[in-house]
Amino acid sequence: MVDLNQDVKYVKGVGPNRGKLLNKLDIYTLKDLITYYPRNYEDRSIITKIKDVKDGEKYTIEGTALSEVNIRYINRNKSYEKLLIKDDTDTCLITWFNQPYVKDNIKKGKKYRFYGKVSKKNSTIEMNSPMYDSVEKSNNTGKIIPIYPLTNSLSQSNIRKIIENGIKIVENKLQETLPISYLEEYHLLDINKATKQIHFPESFNDFHLARKRLVFDELLSMQLGLLLLRNENESEIKGIKYDKNIQMSDVINDLPFKLTKAQLRVLEDINEDMEKEKPMNRLLQGDVGSGKTIVSMIAAYKAVKSGYQVSVLAPTMILAKQHLINFKNILEKYGIVCEALVGGMSAKKKKELLEKVANGEVDILIGTHAILEENVVFKKLGFVVTDEQHRFGVKQRAKIVAKGNNPDVLVMTATPIPRTLALILYGDLDISIIDELPPNRKKVETFAVSKRYEERVNEFVKKEVKSGRQAYIVCPLVEEAEDENSANLKSVTELYEKYKMEVFKEYKVEYLHGKMKPKEKDEIMNRFKAGEIEILISTTVIEVGVDVPNASIMVIENAERFGLAQLHQLRGRVGRGEYASYCVLKYNGGNDIVRQRMEIMTKTDNGFTIAEKDLQLRGSGEFFGTKQHGIPEFKIANLFQDMEALKEVQSLAIKIVNEDPKLEKEENKPLKLLVKEKFTSKAELTI
Ligand code: ADP
Ligand code: MG
Repeated sequence: MVDLNQDVKYVKGVGPNRGKLLNKLDIYTLKDLITYYPRNYEDRSIITKIKDVKDGEKYTIEGTALSEVNIRYINRNKSYEKLLIKDDTDTCLITWFNQPYVKDNIKKGKKYRFYGKVSKKNSTIEMNSPMYDSVEKSNNTGKIIPIYPLTNSLSQSNIRKIIENGIKIVENKLQETLPISYLEEYHLLDINKATKQIHFPESFNDFHLARKRLVFDELLSMQLGLLLLRNENESEIKGIKYDKNIQMSDVINDLPFKLTKAQLRVLEDINEDMEKEKPMNRLLQGDVGSGKTIVSMIAAYKAVKSGYQVSVLAPTMILAKQHLINFKNILEKYGIVCEALVGGMSAKKKKELLEKVANGEVDILIGTHAILEENVVFKKLGFVVTDEQHRFGVKQRAKIVAKGNNPDVLVMTATPIPRTLALILYGDLDISIIDELPPNRKKVETFAVSKRYEERVNEFVKKEVKSGRQAYIVCPLVEEAEDENSANLKSVTELYEKYKMEVFKEYKVEYLHGKMKPKEKDEIMNRFKAGEIEILISTTVIEVGVDVPNASIMVIENAERFGLAQLHQLRGRVGRGEYASYCVLKYNGGNDIVRQRMEIMTKTDNGFTIAEKDLQLRGSGEFFGTKQHGIPEFKIANLFQDMEALKEVQSLAIKIVNEDPKLEKEENKPLKLLVKEKFTSKAELTI
């Protein structure tokens, strides 16, 4: 058996210096090394005739050196090396820069392979700085070559050689990580084959097979781990049993509106959880404005009337203040004391508040991250609500939970997450969904337009503002574009200048972005809320649920740059009042995918449908970062690309855990190891 935990510096070709470079890539052990997967592959297996190459593409060509390498020195440190080669179709001029040693490696009259980008001007064909190999002993060409993610002075051929040596050590000696029966059932390669082939596939089919196997391992261990974690929480921890005699309907019947069926259903789930001894860990998903907050208030009522305190965690100060007003509105009349803890309070006020919290005079404490600080002590915290979860990591949730004695936890999010993904991202939580908007809600009329319509859009904004409404203009970047890729993206400050000085100069225009101080941001937001600002230009910092019922129009610049789920959340900022509301998506670049994505936005207003469609269309890429959910990054799996595999693995994981809740059966031993490894190396997951 090989010791996978051995220090990587003992692998042939490494040593202390390269060892340090590898450490920088988070490669410390042999295991880290062999699971350092390529980010890409280059097919250098196909040899192209020189006459068939096209300008600007990469090729492997094979030809005879017509002379020695010819070196020209420009100065002592600068040189270029030239060589003319020939195959049976044409000649090609090869140039290297500052590599005089190639002269020693290449002999006149012998055959070599070259891999690189070709330039073809008139009838001369050239290749600059190619990889090269002798035909007999090829290491860099003639096959599929893995390309690794590198950030430092290790070269691709260095790391390739090192990984090759690492693979030699473990070859055919790795212990199978899955029950053997799965290999057949799911058509998977064994672990030894997969490990070798992911680095050095002989064909792209080999690569796909290897990847499939490794993705399976990764998804299965993640899903099993999360399910086990949940089981553990359920079976062992004793939480609070809230008073069955406290009726949520006391509040529900007093509300100025009727709750939707979805809200009532969710409240039933929550009530049931609250009356059980095991702590509630529930995720409440629902579109912006679907009425999650009111649900949390009703649950908070039950908690307070049963003798416990509640804390409500909001992602920004302004939201915390907004919540305070809303909570007071609904709950004060039942004698419930609500307070907010936010930055910028005077030391004296803060001290007084904290004392009241500590001796139980405050029933509901609403606040930002400030609530997580150590000096915030509750007398009897029994219920924790976190709003807009994607701003809080799992760790932070654990911190607030620790201030109570196994309190019930309700996590609210407006990010629509398809169920399959929710099971991965929140596998440790039960899930409730509000899939219905209150009946009085106005649909936000959405239009997608290209640049040609700019004038008309501006006129439309003016018309709305003249009739007393307010407008948001959202754009993706803060500062002026730095790289040329984003050169044509609008940035807030640049747009601000243009809009304030020219287009909307007769209106009150302000801007807001994430790099401003929290206090400045709050001030701007408050002024917007108070109607002192008519047009607010902003990055996505307004995404989080601030209520400005008078805002009736949102223009989104470079809408093609946003995820659809994000666009949907953004547009939820308007249409929160009595006025007809509009969202205008301005997009660049008219490829089909962009157009289809924009069309979905104009046709659909259901967040879940939008999220599913976005996944289908994009296939892969950043739907939303998994990091911010506190979930470890996957090494090889891609939740989007591997959606089908994920579904398969999820039903398998659920079946396994149902039959063997602690993975104690002999045949599940390998799985237990697999999970353990994943979850101990990623400690943040164990909350
Ligand atoms: P969310 O937190 O999901 O974004 P809120 O709870 O803030 O949504 O609700 C948005 C607005 O709709 C609030 O003003 C709230 O009082 C109101 N509201 C909530 N539920 C209903 C309902 N069933 N009928 C009418 N209005 C509702
Ligand atoms: Mg909200």
